[in-house]
Amino acid sequence: DHVLVWLRADLRVSDNTALNRAIASGLPVIAAYIATPMQWYQHYVSGRQIDLIERRLHVIKQQLHDISIPLLILEGDDFSVATDIIINVCQQYQISAVYCNRQHAWNEKQRDRAVEQALLAQDKQWHCSDDFCALPPGSVVTKQQQMYKVFTPYRNAWLTQFLMHNYQPVTNSDTVTPSAQCADLLAGNIDASCNIQTFNYTKQDSVLWPVDEGAIQQRLQMFCETKAEYYQQQRDFPAIDGTSCLSPYLAIGALSARQCLSALLQTLPQCVEINKDNGAFVWLSEVVWREFYNHLLDSDERLSKNQSFQLYTDNVRWLENSVHVHAWQQGQTGFPLVDAAMRQLATTGWMHNRLRMITASFLTKDMLCDWRIGEQWFMQQLIDGELASNNGGWQWAASTGTDAQPYFRVFNPTTQSERFDPNGEFIRQWLPELKSVPDKYIHAPSLWSGFGSVNYPLPIVDHKQMRLLAIERYKQAKTEY
Ligand code: FAD
Repeated sequence: DHVLVWLRADLRVSDNTALNRAIASGLPVIAAYIATPMQWYQHYVSGRQIDLIERRLHVIKQQLHDISIPLLILEGDDFSVATDIIINVCQQYQISAVYCNRQHAWNEKQRDRAVEQALLAQDKQWHCSDDFCALPPGSVVTKQQQMYKVFTPYRNAWLTQFLMHNYQPVTNSDTVTPSAQCADLLAGNIDASCNIQTFNYTKQDSVLWPVDEGAIQQRLQMFCETKAEYYQQQRDFPAIDGTSCLSPYLAIGALSARQCLSALLQTLPQCVEINKDNGAFVWLSEVVWREFYNHLLDSDERLSKNQSFQLYTDNVRWLENSVHVHAWQQGQTGFPLVDAAMRQLATTGWMHNRLRMITASFLTKDMLCDWRIGEQWFMQQLIDGELASNNGGWQWAASTGTDAQPYFRVFNPTTQSERFDPNGEFIRQWLPELKSVPDKYIHAPSLWSGFGSVNYPLPIVDHKQMRLLAIERYKQAKTEY
């Protein structure tokens, strides 16, 4: 007999609950990953994230090999074939139990339900653990056992619970004794599924993010030791390297939230005590935003189904201007910080959080474009694309979400630019065509007398007018509701 650990968004060997439980069973362990390219296209997963996943699988395969666990890389079109694939593997390797970590989006839950039923029908066990968040969804709830709708009380409740239980990363130290079949797989004798296939997907280079264990852990450690303290002062300035850039790893599970929080609390234990007004605590709160959005996704299937949290906002009449959308996507809106951000996204697959808020606000308020269009574009580009946080961020910016930006508080893209990129350093990094524009005009270059010689568009919208129109349309939607 064997047990199977089915890896999904948990691509790590250390602090992986499902893997630890599989090892603790005492039986020989086989690991599997199922590539589902058609499903990825349907979920708009970016080519960069798939490249990152593939590179990470190579690392994991070796790490698992070192502890006598062979990794099978299997491929099916979409989630509908997952059941057949898992059942086949179970038959081929006499597997009596399957271990995995829960995913919180609707399609993933449906897939797991189907697999679970098929396994139970064959008298096989199914063990699904909560591991994507530090605290399981459903465990941080109001007195009425409801999911919190507002972040601050959620965070307070979350923190109380987290500190009380003292959640720590766990790395299994038990050894696995491989069966003869495992030994064959490990030796590569049965190489059909043991070799990593090149995923059949339109990939994009993810090399900016190293995937070996040492590099990832070092980035986390380095951030906690040298940057976390200054996070509060630095995190809003895209020209400063003041945030952790760990999101791509958290999204594919190369790193766990527990590992992040534990590294932080070991380095700066006092950050959660006395006065919470400190950089490290603000960073911790950001990790809790990730928990908030994932718990919300788990508790409300509408968020997986393209629906707004605030129902009245379904009545907002959006403008459908594909020329504007294209300009936004290409970084050609004539608003320098918006354009610099969109080009950073297209070139690297990552965008600074302040800029995600500014570009999302620009699309939804200054262009009055349905937030789902932006959500989809981000997903297709982001290396750290993750349904809960991306949907949460978009619904926040579009004022359609829970605890969102109120619709009448509209970011002014020029003022944001002056505040958060005061010298235009970030703008010039991504818009070389604006290098010669004097500092005074860098946030609104069309006002400069020399603008005629610059190859850069005029602003595609008038912020003042669009702000009023957006407020009007939201107000109208609310009245009609
Ligand atoms: P840090 O500032 O170092 O924060 C540490 C970690 O906390 C991050 O890696 C991330 O896991 C989490 N985190 C930080 N801010 C948030 C937040 N506002 N919401 C949820 N989690 C957060 N984050 C994603 O991981 N994937 C997405 O697809 C995504 N889409 C977004 C879309 C929009 C419109 C907005 C406004 C935000 C989005 N975010 C998303 C949240 C945030 O912008 C990124 O997590 C952050 O910029 C990643 O950089 P970092 O790792 O340096 O973050």
